[in-house]
Amino acid sequence: MSPDDGGINNVKIGVLALQGDFAEHVQMLGKLGVQAVEVRLPRDMADIDGLIIPGGESTTIGKLSVAFGLMAPIRQFGLKKPIWGTCAGAIFLAKESRHDQPMLKLMDIVVLRNAFGRQVDSFKTHLEIPAIITPENRGPFHAVFIRAPLIEQAGPDVEILARLADGRIVAARQDYFLATSFHPELTGDDRFHRYFVQMTLNSKGMSK
Ligand code: GLN
Repeated sequence: MSPDDGGINNVKIGVLALQGDFAEHVQMLGKLGVQAVEVRLPRDMADIDGLIIPGGESTTIGKLSVAFGLMAPIRQFGLKKPIWGTCAGAIFLAKESRHDQPMLKLMDIVVLRNAFGRQVDSFKTHLEIPAIITPENRGPFHAVFIRAPLIEQAGPDVEILARLADGRIVAARQDYFLATSFHPELTGDDRFHRYFVQMTLNSKGMSK
């Protein structure tokens, strides 16, 4: 996608705004010229083309989603349109976390919460991610991990987008679902947001 891609003005992306760092996602989308909508109630999802679930605390995001009647609408949305979960959002999107917490169970991944223990529960690293490189920026992605989950298992339809140097999976895609263990919204690098906008544009062009 080039920055002046015509379709970008026609796309509207919702950001689940119950808890966590949704404001940073809204800001990043704004910088790209994409219309962003904060989603707190089912009616906020009425005309969005894609949904981002931010980082934060996945049990809280899940419980609030139940309380506000968002579980069924988000699951329904995920049958037709793209959803991206960052960190806690990736946990919520997964089919399994081995914790007793509300889960969307949309993406065929098993996640391990707080996978990095106390000593290194937050860290930064550079990742080579071929899927998101652009002609303007072919460099590694500066990834910020905050009490992050790992993607422990990925089903046969899941494409692995990024691994740590030791091989552990930290970003993956399954059709219109995108999961990142880290927080692209907390960096100045907008390539993941561009990638998700492109997924959303593609889904608008096809009926799924
Ligand atoms: N540790 C959080 C959880 O398990 C996720 C942390 C984050 O989103 N930065 O929900």
